[in-house]
Amino acid sequence: MREVVSFIGGQPMAPGPGAHRIPIINPHDESTNGVLLEADATQVDQAVCAARAAFDNGPWPRMSVAERQDILRRAGEVLMDHGDELARLECEDAGLPMHEIRHRHVPRMSQNFNYVASLIGLDTGDVLEQIPDYLTLVSHEPAGVAALLAPWNAPLALASMKLTCAICLGNTCVLKPSEYTPSSLYRFVELLGEAGLPDGVVNLVNGRGDVTGSALVSHPGVDRIAFTGGTETGRAIMSAAAQNLTPVMLELGGKSANIIFESADLDDALDAALIGIYSNNGQQCLAGSRILVQANVAETFIEQFAARTQAIRVGNPMDQETEIGPLCFREHYQRVCGYADIARAEGARLVCGGGPAEGFERGFYFQPTAFLAESNRSRIAREEIFGPFASILTFDTVDQGIAMANDSEFGLVAYAWTEDLKTALRARNTLRAGTVWINTPLMRDLHAPFGGYKQSGVGRTGGFEGIHFFSETKTSSIAVSALDLRKLGQP
Ligand code: NAD
Repeated sequence: MREVVSFIGGQPMAPGPGAHRIPIINPHDESTNGVLLEADATQVDQAVCAARAAFDNGPWPRMSVAERQDILRRAGEVLMDHGDELARLECEDAGLPMHEIRHRHVPRMSQNFNYVASLIGLDTGDVLEQIPDYLTLVSHEPAGVAALLAPWNAPLALASMKLTCAICLGNTCVLKPSEYTPSSLYRFVELLGEAGLPDGVVNLVNGRGDVTGSALVSHPGVDRIAFTGGTETGRAIMSAAAQNLTPVMLELGGKSANIIFESADLDDALDAALIGIYSNNGQQCLAGSRILVQANVAETFIEQFAARTQAIRVGNPMDQETEIGPLCFREHYQRVCGYADIARAEGARLVCGGGPAEGFERGFYFQPTAFLAESNRSRIAREEIFGPFASILTFDTVDQGIAMANDSEFGLVAYAWTEDLKTALRARNTLRAGTVWINTPLMRDLHAPFGGYKQSGVGRTGGFEGIHFFSETKTSSIAVSALDLRKLGQP
């Protein structure tokens, strides 16, 4: 049986004999993929110390940009070469369709390395010369040790984004994957060593959030915390970070509106609405999970949406034809099932799906589902469900649609569908979300900052904003000519 341990200072590191053991369950058939041996606070301390030693004394922060670029690019290649192996490990733990991981997540993971390699080549700092007697230099120095906490919904793609932003300027880090999906990221960290990343630059600790994760975010030796996960956990992490005044970047949950105006190209809007809510098994922060349709086109749209949803192929995530696999783990599956009960109790109209998928004796399979919500105040319109579960609402005017979209505690992304320029610009200007997609789903430009308004997050990944979070900005002023200084104390 595969044992997933921690990886510290370039070595696998098993905890002591009494360590908590967590079975890693395959959500397809509930078989056991392996066992995770949890890191306790002592091991977390070892990992932070290894990262600190690699930062204070190791070669990585002292390399030229060109040397770091070479290693980052090689890492991207090595990871891509092991794409099948990584995708299989992730599919077995997470239940995401194998072809989505292999052809979307794995290339994205590799691209993240290439992208930051290019970015650091452009990160030149500023020279200020406005004041004649001085030369002032503004530079970004690596901050030190970063703690990186990753969720289970796209482990390789999301952890690699965080990790590349963290290490590219010369920082070192401790990564903690989700306890539900540790296998692909363990292999990922091993491969980074094989690609030439010096020991101790990337350390890995495995375990539950309230044990391993909490020890990591409370550790005084951590200089930056970057977290992707649920909004409630984000709050707990920010409180823990406050004790040491450690800066945090939080990428949190969403309940993003996908607004379909009557001026939309309805065929494109339909394809995109299905992708927006059902891809990645419906488990994505940026899902268009609140579909707002203008009244004149609502009936046709909902009818077509239901027909297509019912035809979605739910099945074994290893199968090439599968469009939706199982939900990631039992408690999450039960939670998503619970929302179907909530929807019925609050008077929502079932459009399609609405419960466990049929034909599966084992596994956490849920039917792709849509309900017409009673109102935007309903729980299914306000709470993040994080499954293949669309909440549909209708509105009358453009302003009502936008107001409804903004009436949410979240603000991660917003989608708007219209062929009318004025409506498109109105939506772009007034939607309160970190990313607004007009006539496209799920477009992510790595140069562009990504993050949430309101309860969807703090800070941005992507572009210079993403990497500068992991840096300290230093201003140095140098006198370039003789100064006429006051002579204090001189008679
Ligand atoms: P989660 O909050 O349960 O866990 C995320 C990570 O934090 C895991 O590694 C977990 O072990 C750890 N953790 C949990 N409690 C902790 C604590 N008290 N201290 C330190 N670490 C702790 O989230 P999840 O269920 O793994 O992921 C799903 C959530 O992630 C959804 O809400 C989704 O919207 C969000 N998400 C956001 C983005 C984004 O970019 N905004 C991307 C993907 C997922």
